[in-house]
Amino acid sequence: MGLIKAEYIWIDGHKPTAKLRSKTKVFDGPVNNLNEIPEWGFDGSSTMQAEGKNSDCMLKPIYFVPDPIRGGDNILVMNEVRNADGSVHVSNTRAQLVEISEKYKEEEAWFGIEQEYTFFQGRSPLGWPEGGYPAPQGPFYCGVGADEVFGRDIVEDHMDACVQAGIGFSGINAEVMPGQWEFQVGPLGPLDVSDQLWLSRWILYRIAEEYGVNATLHPKPVSGDWNGAGAHTNFSTKSMRSNGGLKIIEKACEELGKKHEDHIAVYGAHNEERLTGLHETCSIHDFRFGVSDRGASIRIPMATANDGYGYLEDRRPSANMDPYKVCAAMIVTCCS
Ligand code: ADP
Ligand code: MN
Ligand code: MN
Ligand code: MN
Repeated sequence: MGLIKAEYIWIDGHKPTAKLRSKTKVFDGPVNNLNEIPEWGFDGSSTMQAEGKNSDCMLKPIYFVPDPIRGGDNILVMNEVRNADGSVHVSNTRAQLVEISEKYKEEEAWFGIEQEYTFFQGRSPLGWPEGGYPAPQGPFYCGVGADEVFGRDIVEDHMDACVQAGIGFSGINAEVMPGQWEFQVGPLGPLDVSDQLWLSRWILYRIAEEYGVNATLHPKPVSGDWNGAGAHTNFSTKSMRSNGGLKIIEKACEELGKKHEDHIAVYGAHNEERLTGLHETCSIHDFRFGVSDRGASIRIPMATANDGYGYLEDRRPSANMDPYKVCAAMIVTCCS
């Protein structure tokens, strides 16, 4: 027994892109089970989740991990936002994914999400000359050396923290634009990948804070001849991963093409600035799929085409997307 600090994390009602919020509750620990973590509340009028008069919103814990920053028995707690009576709050996009993942659970959907992001210090991306531009893109992707990559100490700290927290973290790389990076979470089921992606975003912001740096998920943080930031969503079902799965993957791509606009609508705000047809993207107005094609909307990886089974990569979601919405849309379109 002893007092522990539980950092309650939730998603606010900010539009068009929701933001993460958190606050700390101190209570007797350690905690071994989710049901030992008390529900809590917050002032929804300060997070665009309520009117001033009736502003109490509920935090319902749904997932917790050891806190890699505070250490000890302290924990990080992801929450769903509920109304005061316990019903689902309008800003809560997770509740719908709970229903969809239950309905299609026999499909055994897996997701691996590539989260790209950009570090900023003041008004410029990290490592950029004050008020100017670095050398043109080319040497930075997966680069090494103080003239090629910026912020590696933060990236390493973030990766250590995520691994320590038990997040299904699968890797990192420096991106094409200097100051831009990527990490991957998955493959995991839809709820796990989404809860863990949101949590790893929170850990990223929190750790970068220590360095006086902020990370942004804006899909086009610098306009012009610079790569945008996406969240490629790799997806498979049990049948796609089995012999003959390639046929099912191709069928899923055709269905995704028919629903292109519906998907774009939940793939993140300002994505039209990124999906221009340049910089390894397909135009937001077109839909194409193809093997190994990084200029397509959906890429079928070479290994999947060669093996005849595997997964597909939806390259359209932007870095600021809500994984609860993206996973829900993928499952409904590809599985029904
Ligand atoms: P890229 O070559 O596009 O940069 P990455 O290596 O960054 O690809 O990311 C690929 C992602 O796909 C990883 O997160 C990985 O876990 C995930 N992945 C691998 N196999 C599957 C699968 N069968 N279903 C879903 N996701 C998968
Ligand atoms: Mn990648
Ligand atoms: Mn990438
Ligand atoms: Mn990718």
